[in-house]
Amino acid sequence: MKLATIGVGNAGSKIVDRMLEFESQTDRNLCQHVHAINTARTDLAKPDYIPEDRRVLIGDTNQKAKGHGVGGDVEVGAEVAKADIEEIRRAFDDVEIHEVDALLVVAGLGGGSGSGGGPVVIDTLQEMYDEPVYGLGVLPGKYEGGRPALNAARSLQSFVTKVDNFIGFDNDAWRAREQTIEEGYEQMNRELAARLVTLLAAGETDDSEVAENAMDSSDIIRTLDTGGVSTIGYAATEVDNDAATGGLLDRWSTDRAESADEGSKATKIQGLVRRAVNSRLTVPAEISSADRALVVLSGPPSEFSRKGIESARQWLEQEADTVEVLVGDDPRGKSPQLAAAVLLSNVTETPRINEIQNQAVDAQEKIAEQEAVREEEINDLITDENNDLDPVV
Ligand code: GDP
Repeated sequence: MKLATIGVGNAGSKIVDRMLEFESQTDRNLCQHVHAINTARTDLAKPDYIPEDRRVLIGDTNQKAKGHGVGGDVEVGAEVAKADIEEIRRAFDDVEIHEVDALLVVAGLGGGSGSGGGPVVIDTLQEMYDEPVYGLGVLPGKYEGGRPALNAARSLQSFVTKVDNFIGFDNDAWRAREQTIEEGYEQMNRELAARLVTLLAAGETDDSEVAENAMDSSDIIRTLDTGGVSTIGYAATEVDNDAATGGLLDRWSTDRAESADEGSKATKIQGLVRRAVNSRLTVPAEISSADRALVVLSGPPSEFSRKGIESARQWLEQEADTVEVLVGDDPRGKSPQLAAAVLLSNVTETPRINEIQNQAVDAQEKIAEQEAVREEEINDLITDENNDLDPVV
């Protein structure tokens, strides 16, 4: 698939940057167009791979932002993006839409710029293009507290209703306790980028070897066509990439050796798909609640096995309790790895989303209570006990 990828806010831009890094490291060709949109000038200077002329600063003339961000205020994030909508539209002027199959908007939902601005960007893209617009949203960790949970729960509603499909990533599930938050983010962003790019770049290969069961963009679009919230699983294993030579020798070997080799390839593929499905998902979910599923097997074609793919498909049909399961391959002749990326589309049982909503409701009540008593408390503070004093003017 070919994508136009847009990072909104700090987390969104960092994740898009890591997607570009993974693409360049693995010789893939997914993001045809990229943009970073942010209200904070300093954050826009951070990416290593997003070209400078693709970074859009919004809200620099807004009194509350002034180029320094929106301080985690989701309302201001949305307001600033709406006010600068023409600038955002202009940034897409040269996006040759016939070059892309879909658009992806990436944001952290716990902050202000991505959480508030993301849905405004999505509305604009949905108006401008007929291609599907997908969202990738990061759910804040519980440890971040009530305000990010409230931003995320509200923004999630906007994202999911506006996009064609929403892929979730849960910081809580991916946090490693022994790391600092920044180190943790770096690692999470790389893990997420590997999953997204392995999955979505299927079909975009320069490999001259035509795959028998090649996955292409229409398969991915069909799987995401359910709407709702989706999650990705992933597993990879190192392979001996002299396999190319091995493949040639195999042709000369006996029938028996060939079938043994075929058998072990099939077992390897089945095992890898199982591992991917049972791995830590980008957002933990009940697998059987998925509406559709798709598996991309990516690696040297000599590792593929039709039998392995078929039995992996049958196994996943049972696990996900759906007949809508596609398994296909994505040949990467030079890859030292065989990887399986599994998309579980429209998972309806995701406990972390319920937790965030509960945390958000508590936070909203607390904020309302505090607002109600704030004026009274200030008044009490500045008034003397018997109210004998008067203000100067
Ligand atoms: P914004 O710039 O106002 O949109 O805010 P940020 O993107 O800085 O932060 C929004 C939320 O994204 C935070 O509450 C965190 O949950 C999350 N976050 C921030 N940076 C990262 C990152 O690099 N990786 C991940 N996975 N999450 C992040």
